[in-house]
Amino acid sequence: MDMAEMAQGGAQLQLERFDVLIVGAGISGIGGAYHLTQQCAGKSFVVLESQAGFGGTWRTHRYPGIRSDSDLHTFGYRFKPWKGVPIATAEEIRKYMGEVIEDNDLAGHIRYNHRIVSASWSSQDKYWTIEAEDSAAGVRRRFAATFLWMCQGYYRHEGGYTPQWPGMESFSGRIVHPQEWPEDLDLAGKRVMVIGSGATAATIVPAVAGKCAHVTMLQRSPTYFITGRNINELAQMLRELQIPEEWTHEIVRRKILKDQATFTQRCFEEPEAVRKELLGNARNLLGESCDVDKHFNPAYRPWRQRIAFVPDADLFTAIRDGHASVVTDEIERFEAGGIRLKSGDLLAADVVVTATGFHLSVLGDIAFTIDGEPLDFAKTVTYLGTMFTGVPNMAWVFGYFRASWTLRADLIADFVCRLLKHMDARGAQMAVPQLRDDERDMPLKPWVDPENFNPGYLLRGLHLLPSQGAHVPWLHTQDYWNEKDQLPSIDLDDGALRYA
Ligand SMILES: Cc1cc2nc3c(=O)[nH]c(=O)nc-3n(C[C@H](O)[C@H](O)[C@H](O)COP(=O)(O)OP(=O)(O)OC[C@H]3O[C@@H](n4cnc5c(N)ncnc54)[C@H](O)[C@@H]3O)c2cc1C
Repeated sequence: MDMAEMAQGGAQLQLERFDVLIVGAGISGIGGAYHLTQQCAGKSFVVLESQAGFGGTWRTHRYPGIRSDSDLHTFGYRFKPWKGVPIATAEEIRKYMGEVIEDNDLAGHIRYNHRIVSASWSSQDKYWTIEAEDSAAGVRRRFAATFLWMCQGYYRHEGGYTPQWPGMESFSGRIVHPQEWPEDLDLAGKRVMVIGSGATAATIVPAVAGKCAHVTMLQRSPTYFITGRNINELAQMLRELQIPEEWTHEIVRRKILKDQATFTQRCFEEPEAVRKELLGNARNLLGESCDVDKHFNPAYRPWRQRIAFVPDADLFTAIRDGHASVVTDEIERFEAGGIRLKSGDLLAADVVVTATGFHLSVLGDIAFTIDGEPLDFAKTVTYLGTMFTGVPNMAWVFGYFRASWTLRADLIADFVCRLLKHMDARGAQMAVPQLRDDERDMPLKPWVDPENFNPGYLLRGLHLLPSQGAHVPWLHTQDYWNEKDQLPSIDLDDGALRYA
């Protein structure tokens, strides 16, 4: 019996009411729940999560070596000190999130196994009606919420994106996407091919190197990698001085953010010098074992795409030791024994791992309606990269990509709480972004600038995403340094939000 039939059969459609409904129990949703309890203590709220537990990205991904590529001092929340090494495993991140849930009594607010399928806004009632499939109980449930806090991330958690190459069906080995890593996959003695060159490929290759016959990273084009020890010397020193962990967390965050800002500025001002440094580092680590100019020298300038961090240079060590290698070429087709490249070479493989990205999921694949009309999200203009014209009482957490995601999740949480309090102070039940009269012909730009930020899943789905405008507050800048001052101080009564 599928969920629709269940709903008609044993329907439990009484409406549960909350002030705020948070979608998703990943790092953003758990953070949102925490901030609500701290900043809007009187608000009732529920977190609905389609999976059987919290963690989001850090629960979904189970491939070998799964770890952050941001440091956890800034990927961790502003309010909870990170005490471990900077680059953390998924398990460590989940443990940290679990402590936030436990320390703040959030567990009772979270409903797992609840996949939201629809959300309908009524301007008459001034609330959202949300329908969710409760897969544990086998029923459909309904909720009403004044405010919808979308913390569902940006990609479909059910399965990753694998391009279709000719001949895939003839391959005699196994093809695996990292997002759906099979528990029974035994790589011992196997020739493993990892397609991709991003953070996921750079994690899997060293994690399986030495545990399989050989692992090859097959990339269409090179990526920049930056290496460093997986320790934070400043944090270590502050701990030796017995500085309170809260101070250490804040000081280390500020230092990391400042260093990142300096590095970003250098990438724009002297890209060739930065390129030379990154390639020089790769050459030092790889010696004669690999042609650095061919495999580690991208055509684009540094920082145009996210630079993957390789802790303790493990990817480079695996290559230098001969357990791993890199091939830069394009796939012509799959054959029974491996992958035929455009150059004509055949790369033999027993297992192919497609580290080729995600399916963009716009607003959690939820069917949205506003007063009965289906919401065409692509026709909206964003307000501060978190709310959208014509969509009342809804905020989406789309974090930073070049800085840690959670920096923005914390900033947006402050913004949402401020807005909720402001609405209460005004006696308003609804806040909806709307372009002011002189902004209706404002030139519009895509959600992100494809020149500066262009992962495949975003480019494939850019036409589904909202636009941004020409000036504040209609921008989605992805710039922490700008937003850290702007978001807390934005005038909520400047006419860009209509209240009712
Ligand atoms: C492998 C990997 C590594 C990454 N590493 C980093 C990193 O080091 N640093 C960094 O800044 N960023 C990183 N990112 C980006 C990362 O996704 C974010 O940083 C962050 O974890 C996203 O958190 P989130 O809570 O916003 O969304 P998610 O982690 O995507 O969680 C969203 C949750 O919402 C649930 N959900 C979705 N739709 C529905 C629905 N309709 N109904 C109910 N529940 C729903 C999902 O099941 C999920 O649990 C990484 C991403 C991946 C895939």
